[in-house]
Amino acid sequence: MNNMEKYAEFGIIASDPRFLKDDKNNDFLSKYDNGLLTIDNWKLFTDTIKTIYDEVKINNEGNVASYIPQLANVDPELFGICVVSVDGQVFRIGDFDPSFCIQSCSKPITYGLALKEHSENIVHNFVGMEPSGRNFNELCLNEDNLPHNPLINSGAIMTTSLIQSNKEQSNRFQYIYNFWNECVANTFLSFDNSVYLSEKDTADRNKCLGFMMQEKKAFKKGKSKKISKKINRKWNNDDLQKTLELYFQNCSIKTDLLGMGLLSAMLANGGVHPWTNKALFSYKDVKKILSIMLSCGMYDYSGEWCYKIGIPAKSGVSGLIYGVIPGVCGIAVYSPKLDKLGNSFRGIEFFKKFVKKINSHIFENRLNNYKLTIEHSLKMNDKINGYLLLDAAFNNDCDTVRNLLAKGINVNYQDYDKRSALHIASNENNKEAVELLIENGANINLLDRWNNVAHKIE
Ligand code: GLN
Repeated sequence: MNNMEKYAEFGIIASDPRFLKDDKNNDFLSKYDNGLLTIDNWKLFTDTIKTIYDEVKINNEGNVASYIPQLANVDPELFGICVVSVDGQVFRIGDFDPSFCIQSCSKPITYGLALKEHSENIVHNFVGMEPSGRNFNELCLNEDNLPHNPLINSGAIMTTSLIQSNKEQSNRFQYIYNFWNECVANTFLSFDNSVYLSEKDTADRNKCLGFMMQEKKAFKKGKSKKISKKINRKWNNDDLQKTLELYFQNCSIKTDLLGMGLLSAMLANGGVHPWTNKALFSYKDVKKILSIMLSCGMYDYSGEWCYKIGIPAKSGVSGLIYGVIPGVCGIAVYSPKLDKLGNSFRGIEFFKKFVKKINSHIFENRLNNYKLTIEHSLKMNDKINGYLLLDAAFNNDCDTVRNLLAKGINVNYQDYDKRSALHIASNENNKEAVELLIENGANINLLDRWNNVAHKIE
């Protein structure tokens, strides 16, 4: 297969900056050639998504959000999906061209940017990390008079207030927008001014949340005066207006499904963008972002989502949901009709079916139960466990050998010199390990790189 055929068959698209790079500098091709692609059965994987898409398309219940008037001006029938693997492979289906504003899907990134700038200790002096059990814009604060978490409106208004707060408004927005550009690898990104104005003009609830927090000194002091002093936190009452405007602007950033798929894949890849290789977030911050997404990302459906679907995700009222399967891929689904809780109806249906067909709930029993080999860590685990088996054979460590074999590790695993555990154990005259390996099906005829079978020991 030539490179172009490999690209076509494995989902590498022309906007990927690696597309025309020669073999040496192209990490996709080298992973492909060494059998290291995370989702190596790309056709089976994408066919499965297509089947689910067709099943879900038939059903389009719910209503388009209209509390922000401009949001009602979309085609309610739209339905598209984009999946991007941690290796940067792309699969899109349905209406993947239309762009949309990101709404609450901006919140994990805003939180991440606050973490990037301040420590966890400082950010969480101003916002909690607990699901609220309430609607995303409900007028309530937690026991400390702070927002429950960064993924509801009050919390995102708070994290917005922490970003580049001593800079001019224009520079603050530019900073956030530039970061989004990196997340979407300079593919489509824009700003929806009509949505912004519409949201600003109908913002009674968000203003009310802002005033509630301001009244309780949540912006100025947060939980502890000592911590807020550390960042020399200043807060004048007119900062609220600016913060709200910046928050509305974040919600009005526009991209498309490819952009959201890439952003999700970057989070799935520990913060490193699969197309550009740039580390946009540290893996430590990604861990925090994903933890909050798992517990709080789906409004008041977060508990059931975690139970049934079990992958970190975020939903927005424009009809977008993106899910992150750590180490595997990001998935963005767009369909504007929402269920009662404000989640895309088809989005939820899609993910429910997806995790059933491709076992990706993060607590799934991967070793025995993975039907599709889409899991990078599974492959790496096999390798690492294979080497552990060789090491245990070398040390005549029968307990470890037994343990690894019980986990399902291949007793005939061979290293780069094609040496198996049996070769190594017999070379060391480790009688017990040799017997144990043979009892468990070790092949005495396996040849190593020098065409030797394991030698017999007396
Ligand atoms: N901009 C919207 C708001 O503040 C975001 C809500 C959402 O997507 N859940 O109301």
